[in-house]
Amino acid sequence: MAHKISSDCISCGSCESQCPVNAIVKGESIYTINAETCVDCGACVSACPVNAISSE
Ligand code: SF4
Ligand code: SF4
Repeated sequence: MAHKISSDCISCGSCESQCPVNAIVKGESIYTINAETCVDCGACVSACPVNAISSE
């Protein structure tokens, strides 16, 4: 399992720098998390102003 970014993402970019393994990348409309790279550390969750990041 990995963390996921929902469609609530407003592409603010706050989470990107929080990820120790650079699993968060800017997509076409929202940011996404590379499930194969994400180590489920949870560091990105609190960085999101709209609570768009959750673990599944
Ligand atoms: S849970 Fe950790 S490893 Fe996964 S995307 Fe968030 S900051 Fe990166
Ligand atoms: S912090 Fe939240 S709103 Fe900002 S880019 Fe990341 S997922 Fe999207």
